[in-house]
Amino acid sequence: MTNIRQVYNWINGEYVPASNGETFDVTTPISQELIAEVSESTQEDADRAVAAAREAFDNGPWGKLTVKERSDKLRRMAEIIIERAEEIGTLDAMDVGKPIRNTVQGGEVDRSANNISFFADYAEMMHGEAFPMGKDYINYTTYDPVGVSVLITPWNIPFMLTTWKLGPALAAGNTVVIKPPEVTPLSVALLGEIAKEAGIPDGVVNIVHGKGGVVGNALTSHEAVDLVSFTGSTKTGTIIQQSAANTQKKVSVELGGKAADIIFSDADLKKAVPGAIRAAYTNTGQVCLAGSRLLVQEDILDAFLEAFVAEAKAFKVGDPNDVDTDMGPIVSEDQFQKVSSYIDWAKDNGLEILAGGKRPDNLPEEISEGYYLEPTIILAPDPNSKINQEEIFGPVVSVIPFQTEEEAIKIVNNSIYGLDGVIWTENLAKAHRVAHEIKAGTIWINDWFVRDLRVPFGGAKQSGNGREGGRFSMEFFTEAKNICIRIKD
Ligand code: ADP
Repeated sequence: MTNIRQVYNWINGEYVPASNGETFDVTTPISQELIAEVSESTQEDADRAVAAAREAFDNGPWGKLTVKERSDKLRRMAEIIIERAEEIGTLDAMDVGKPIRNTVQGGEVDRSANNISFFADYAEMMHGEAFPMGKDYINYTTYDPVGVSVLITPWNIPFMLTTWKLGPALAAGNTVVIKPPEVTPLSVALLGEIAKEAGIPDGVVNIVHGKGGVVGNALTSHEAVDLVSFTGSTKTGTIIQQSAANTQKKVSVELGGKAADIIFSDADLKKAVPGAIRAAYTNTGQVCLAGSRLLVQEDILDAFLEAFVAEAKAFKVGDPNDVDTDMGPIVSEDQFQKVSSYIDWAKDNGLEILAGGKRPDNLPEEISEGYYLEPTIILAPDPNSKINQEEIFGPVVSVIPFQTEEEAIKIVNNSIYGLDGVIWTENLAKAHRVAHEIKAGTIWINDWFVRDLRVPFGGAKQSGNGREGGRFSMEFFTEAKNICIRIKD
């Protein structure tokens, strides 16, 4: 039924097949049908893309434009993303399995356009600094582009996360090579032609598709690459930092998470229940920020669970193209098996499954091959158990009852991860106290995933290294240079 798309690399302003002509298959998680054949790049393709980006950086017009000229082109790029929102959103729905209503109107595509226009505007407001040394010397500091930047993103939010890196990279004057996720490459594949249509010169944006361990590794270890920005798993983040170390590239990594929602007994359940549901099941729980551990204070455990289980059971799981679908399928068979193995582990260890834990009954025939799973809730009181320690990355939350504030803080911090944390209470003093004690890059109080692009975003502990967002992105994607002038005779 579906047309099979041919997806090519984008190098120096044009689509090109992989140098050896190889491709790999991409299927839709909606029904497991083949939807695309994608160029499977090698070292040679990485070399070509890096050479194009190098030439564009060293000798091309991009770096010679004024900031205003560059920012104007980026703002045009953002407009084109909005003009093509339907197409981009539909591709992500088909490729990732995201409900269409989360991708298009007011959703991820809007945010993606904003990722570009925000940093275009930001670059125009940037200024250097001066550090006078009395009347004898003056220092002034400039922020120069770093050079060829490699952007590597994961399969869960491919378009939005790539633009989150692309916006500041280009606004700062860098050239880029993008390595899209091989599981969901379709929307990101369009960014080259969108950049060209916006008037961005050839060679500034290049895209090479393929396996992380092959072409991804060729890029991160490449001698002509200056910077790597990565979002993905902690395991791959470690490999990438090691491989990028050979030439002292700048590296920023945003990695896994195991965030906890702490529901205190004085929380307003009218806010906390839908909020915790959103934190648990947005994007089928395939979000590094997902609130996958639910810490619930014992005196409200029954009331909270009654409402939370009811809402989870009311969730409509199905075809992401239906506007009333709340949750689509898990992205792939591998991921489905991984998520299911945690549910099996819970069952084998006698844990109580409060909801879900299985494929939905009565899936329509045309999507019955997809990897759908009901929103799953597992009572898992031992904070040290596998299910409370490992990142599951699927629609599964574990519930951990607690008694005191101190106990909750201890449980939350008992994790190798520290990406985000969520606190639900009507007592602001308590919220502040607890927020200060949690070791994480972001804390939300009485909400989840509320984003302002100016704020620092990134992970503590094994959830990452470095911060992006606003001036943090601009610092990462630039090289600060101090110029010291002697004034005295
Ligand atoms: P996940 O599959 O959970 O998203 P990964 O961290 O493995 O996690 O993948 C994120 C991105 O990193 C993907 O685009 C993948 O191709 C890429 N990748 C995987 N391994 C490597 C590697 N060794 N070097 C560079 N990129 C890699």
